[in-house]
Amino acid sequence: MLTHVFIIVFGAAVGSFLNVVIFRLNSGESFLGGESRCFSCGKKLKWRELVPVFSFLIQKGRCRGCGSKISWQYPAVEIITGVLFLATFQLSKFNFDSCDICWFLYPYIWLLVSLLIIIAVYDLRHFIIPNKIVWIFNVLAFLNLLAHTKYAKPGFAFLSGVVFFLFFAALWFLSKGKWMGFGDAKLALGLGWLLGPVKTFSAFLISFWLGAFVGLLLIVLKKGKYTMMSRIPFAPFLIAGSLLSFFINFDILSFFNF
Ligand SMILES: [Zn+2]
Repeated sequence: MLTHVFIIVFGAAVGSFLNVVIFRLNSGESFLGGESRCFSCGKKLKWRELVPVFSFLIQKGRCRGCGSKISWQYPAVEIITGVLFLATFQLSKFNFDSCDICWFLYPYIWLLVSLLIIIAVYDLRHFIIPNKIVWIFNVLAFLNLLAHTKYAKPGFAFLSGVVFFLFFAALWFLSKGKWMGFGDAKLALGLGWLLGPVKTFSAFLISFWLGAFVGLLLIVLKKGKYTMMSRIPFAPFLIAGSLLSFFINFDILSFFNF
């Protein structure tokens, strides 16, 4: 129990750092160092104004200096990171049964999860996937192929990444970038390498179902603002589908009796 609380708190603290990365990415500012300031009034934030989630709740989502609203992104990313770190700790035992170096795999998978959170939130905000982050993710996913040669079939996992990439690249090419960005194809490469063929296929189906569902919901709920042709960022769906497929061990092929 204490371990679980510790992991959630640790995850929320990492999420707090991820927020800084998301806001400073491509802004020329360094991620480490520098002071945290209010975006509106520039007031320097004290440590008690930087406690994940709690500061936001206590200050009722407003800056102490000028009273302007603080973005929901802060507590949302902190909570999601905490929950995903715990989910990784609890559920990835299924995936790492045969490993001798599991203690090493948690930081590794937490790093991957963190990169995916940055990509998803950045895509939501800017409709673009940050190139540097997606390539760091892909290199780390490729290392996973090399590390699992003993008890898995890295050849199949490598191919599933390539097929996943080609599918999204084809959508990007055929629609001239309207349905899908090329960033989504790059992201699919690493996700495929990480998940292997069966889970990649599940991830693919789940993300399209999620995307279609949310797309329809937006069209119905926000009439006029969204149409069938509206662009929605796809990386959050691709990432949510991949994480669900990874965590739940949802084997969609056996589900349909293939
Ligand atoms: Zn302020």
